[in-house]
Amino acid sequence: MRFPLKKLLKRSFFLTFLFLLSTGSALAQDEQVGGPVYVVQSGDTLSIIAVRWGVPQQEIVSANQLENPDQLFAGQELVLPGIDWIDGVLIPQQMPYGETLLSLSRQYRVDPQLLARLSRLTSPSQLFVSYPITMPTQRGEDTSNVRNVVSPGVSMLEMAAANGRNPWTMVGENSLSGTWDAISGDVLLIPGTDQPGPGALPSPITRLEFPAEGLVQGRTVVVNVNAEGDFALQSELMGNQLDYFRQEDGTYSALMGVSALAEPGLTPFTMSGEFGYGTPFSFTQSVAVVDGGYGFETLTVDLALIDIDLTNSESEFIRSLTAEVTPEKLWSGFFQAPSPYTDTINSTYGTRRSYNGGVYETYHSGIDFGGGLGVEIFSPAVGEVVFAGPLEVRGNATIINHGWGVYTGYWHQSEIRVQEGDIVAPGQVIGIVGNTGRVTGAHLHWEIWVNGVQVDPIDWLARPYP
Ligand SMILES: [Zn+2]
Repeated sequence: MRFPLKKLLKRSFFLTFLFLLSTGSALAQDEQVGGPVYVVQSGDTLSIIAVRWGVPQQEIVSANQLENPDQLFAGQELVLPGIDWIDGVLIPQQMPYGETLLSLSRQYRVDPQLLARLSRLTSPSQLFVSYPITMPTQRGEDTSNVRNVVSPGVSMLEMAAANGRNPWTMVGENSLSGTWDAISGDVLLIPGTDQPGPGALPSPITRLEFPAEGLVQGRTVVVNVNAEGDFALQSELMGNQLDYFRQEDGTYSALMGVSALAEPGLTPFTMSGEFGYGTPFSFTQSVAVVDGGYGFETLTVDLALIDIDLTNSESEFIRSLTAEVTPEKLWSGFFQAPSPYTDTINSTYGTRRSYNGGVYETYHSGIDFGGGLGVEIFSPAVGEVVFAGPLEVRGNATIINHGWGVYTGYWHQSEIRVQEGDIVAPGQVIGIVGNTGRVTGAHLHWEIWVNGVQVDPIDWLARPYP
């Protein structure tokens, strides 16, 4: 009885060995399928990937032994067979603010031309914020670097010496052709030290957040910056100078309103400043202005009754009042709705308006709450009343300054319950709904100004700013 058992054990050992051998050879075979690895993104399908990389779908299916080619998942890794001009892992991402083709090529140690080919770039001006780029990386590669801006009058030799580096190594790491090649204001990398941040901006900037969706018409844009040491920062966007304010956690934030009528397309966003060591920098990158998808309406009015000069001078008065930016942020977190009738919004923000069938050159600058005469109006957040009084077009009007260039306006009231100089609390009754000024019926028109531009107020109820 012992012998067969021994024989059986031997046999099973032999089988296991055979199995291991065959598994081993299958692995070896898998490894022979050459080509870079593509990391599937949400929204990708096999046909999108096949077209993008010019590889037949069937070849991707067989190289990866895909059983369900229709069910790719985000993060799945696919070998792209037949692509021999690149290897490693290909990670698609959106172009962030604060990078250039050169800064990315330095950070990922990739030839700039290869990067351009991978991202289908025909011109560097295409690298606007959110442009889809593809970064090749090698597994386990350390891409952390310290970034040093080249100061005026400092040579590469001096810079290398100051950082304890061989100047010729730095030349290679930064895709320069010689130690005389660096120009003042350029940001060079000194690899191997952990210092995250956008690669084309100086090293004291450790983080920069810019909305990946770009500048959506009627939305409020937040730029967040974290930096070390003493510095001064300015930004310019669509003719506006942005002001950065320090938050409690040390983040510097700037808010900007995008007009509902801003022309879709690319516009430059410039960030400039100076750091404690006296080196100025300036960086400009294109950002996309995106259509907000607003509707259209035609209003019928008796133009003979409209005094254009009066309308314009009243608008100019409001504009100048809301243009002042005060440095103290009075609000915190979400704004509250100023009306209890949040489900009776008669007119939304952004709708393009034509008068009597003319051109659509204006838009609805706020939202209209219904509910009729006598409804209470609440302050949405802490702020200081900077105007409370009658106006011709807007009727009984109140304007509240919330700080950082953020103002709210309340038009057509029957009663105003606050005075200029009052500090109001969230939920405080500040007035009563009426039909004063140029209106067809009682409603509360509510608007929010950010950096001199009226934006969609609904946005401020839906998320806390900054
Ligand atoms: Zn309105």
